[in-house]
Amino acid sequence: MARIARAKVLIVGDSEVGKTSLLHRFVDDKFPFRPMATMGSDFRKRTIEIEDSMMQLEVWDTAGQERYMSVASGFFRGSNGVLLVFDVTNVTSFTGIQKWVEEVEYHEIPIWKCLLVGNKIDLINERFIDYSLASSLAHRLGLSYIETSVKDDKNVQLAFATLAKQMMEQMKVNAFNQVRSISVFNLLEYDRSNRKKRGCRKWNCYIM
Ligand code: GDP
Ligand code: MG
Repeated sequence: MARIARAKVLIVGDSEVGKTSLLHRFVDDKFPFRPMATMGSDFRKRTIEIEDSMMQLEVWDTAGQERYMSVASGFFRGSNGVLLVFDVTNVTSFTGIQKWVEEVEYHEIPIWKCLLVGNKIDLINERFIDYSLASSLAHRLGLSYIETSVKDDKNVQLAFATLAKQMMEQMKVNAFNQVRSISVFNLLEYDRSNRKKRGCRKWNCYIM
């Protein structure tokens, strides 16, 4: 059976931008979501196909903790990707992205692991943040930008698939570097033990 890659994905952003709705649309294809009685982090899993490989996404929602900017550190631990979400009708949620970037970096998650998401594009007449303004912020942060409407089910799958692809590429790079460093280590050891046998004190590694 083919191996399934696993990734932890976080959804962060100000309250009311649509984070929980995004999670439920992605996992259950439902809108509006059924409110959760409990507070605290909540996660759901869904496996998707990315370029002939399978990837299981464990998607974490702050489930209300973001209201007090007191998201538990366990929420951030071990994450492979982050959706930074704002509401295109809400300026404060857009300026609030900077605060979430700082929070992500505080928890030692490199910014390039993020994807910027502008939600609620169905509310055309209430829109305040246009595409070019949001994409210039994304560009400044070195991120991709995707606009979604959870209500109309527009680009929700695309947002998760784009992040998954980004994470898959990083996992391949990590795996390659790991194999490479193991083989360099083995060659060093092999070289050293052979030179010892031959009574040679000095050894070098020519493979980098
Ligand atoms: P959270 O606080 O970030 O988790 O936001 P919620 O998922 O609870 O959503 C806040 C409100 O925005 C709810 O009333 C949702 O029904 C609504 N909402 C979420 N996504 C959309 C969307 O794409 N379009 C519209 N019109 N409303 C949305
Ligand atoms: Mg929520």
